[in-house]
Amino acid sequence: PFTVAIVGRPNVGKSTLFNRLVGKKLALVDDQPGLTRDRREADVVIEGLPMTLIDTAGLESGDEGLTARMRLQTEAAIEQADLVLFVIDARTGVTAADEIFGDLVRKHGKAVVLAANKSEGRAAEPGFYEAYSLGLGEPLAMSAEHGLGVGDVTEAIAEAYRNAQAEAGEDGAPEEGEPDEEGVYPLRIAIAGRPNVGKSTLVNALLGEDRMITGPEAGITRDAIASEIEWGSRRLRVFDTAGLRRKARIEARAEVLSVGDTLRAIKFAEVVVLLLDAEQPFEKQDLQIADLIVREGRALVIAVNKWDLVEDKQARLAELREMCQRLLPQVKGVSLVTLSAQSGKGVDRLMDAVLAADEVWNKRLPTAALNEWLAAMIDAHTPPAVAGRRLKIRYMTQANARPPTFVAFCSQPKALPDSYVRYLVNGLRETFDLPGVPIRFNLRKGN
Ligand code: GDP
Repeated sequence: PFTVAIVGRPNVGKSTLFNRLVGKKLALVDDQPGLTRDRREADVVIEGLPMTLIDTAGLESGDEGLTARMRLQTEAAIEQADLVLFVIDARTGVTAADEIFGDLVRKHGKAVVLAANKSEGRAAEPGFYEAYSLGLGEPLAMSAEHGLGVGDVTEAIAEAYRNAQAEAGEDGAPEEGEPDEEGVYPLRIAIAGRPNVGKSTLVNALLGEDRMITGPEAGITRDAIASEIEWGSRRLRVFDTAGLRRKARIEARAEVLSVGDTLRAIKFAEVVVLLLDAEQPFEKQDLQIADLIVREGRALVIAVNKWDLVEDKQARLAELREMCQRLLPQVKGVSLVTLSAQSGKGVDRLMDAVLAADEVWNKRLPTAALNEWLAAMIDAHTPPAVAGRRLKIRYMTQANARPPTFVAFCSQPKALPDSYVRYLVNGLRETFDLPGVPIRFNLRKGN
């Protein structure tokens, strides 16, 4: 079943939250207190969805320190979980121990709901804002003891549950693959593009020809299959969409783009390769797919296939680069790789670009550097005044990676013009070297 682990340093209120979530209102199905003495587990129904809740509260030793044993137990719970419910105490703010636990959570790459507990009353406000800097997404203000904001938390849990369901394979199998001995998962890649741009040919070039014809999967009519390859020192999991199914069927090729398949591939992937046809690049459908990729916040690489057919390669490349800048401003600086899937030429450069895009997508920038940068940006161009009052942006931090997501606190967030936000986003891209990934920039009220 879908498993939620409540994680956080001692005394932030994990047990109180656990009790509230398994409380009468949320139909307790089965309680197994103390599977081991270090934790409690319960089967619960949250927002109508059945799941298992793990409380790591038994680890609390009373003191603030993080013992090796506590760390191991927390890691085990995170490993087992589909979702981490990370709890901090908003009244004390983010402590060194919170940061250590936060690093553990981030390292595992699981979905996270960040709860700023003990948020009743104004004393909790600064701590709530500090929680953004953990880089685990936007905090939800709540109070387990007073029952405030718990609905927001259960809603966020339900949303994570539904996302996990949508991402799981048809047979419910996890599509992220298996971790290696070091706990590293393969990098998930999808090849997206219109029919006939050469997706199947590229997948074959990557995986080897035989696979499609003779593999055990041949003839299978599942919508999509993930296959793994080694590329240098990385394991890659390539999501193969329509190609296999189409090859398996002995029928005319479908010329329509299946948005459902494409979207599924994009959701599955960390990096999406948008494959274009060199002779008909950046068509309407290509841009629609690019839009989906950006909306889902994935790292993007543009690959231009059938480069062997292009005569004046230099002129075409200049043209393509210009089109890319003009038509895809949301991912300024995105890599554009030319290749021939048929001959395999350029495929290695494509993979280098994929790995580089993944690195940018995962980047985390220190809060101090961001705020220094913000001050300089404001110095160079002050935000406008609205109704006689100058808009103030006081603080920013990176709330999340994958994709890079920033939060800035503004005196009147709704009044800050889009052009100013674009100025900041473009500046972030250049100063901190974030080419080609969607950047999310959220404004919050704060002074
Ligand atoms: P898909 O619909 O995107 O999977 O496209 P396919 O891989 O089936 O390829 C469509 C057509 O383009 C096929 O006839 C391929 O042989 C051809 N094709 C694919 N890659 C290349 C390439 O690099 N150069 C040339 N000249 N043709 C290619």
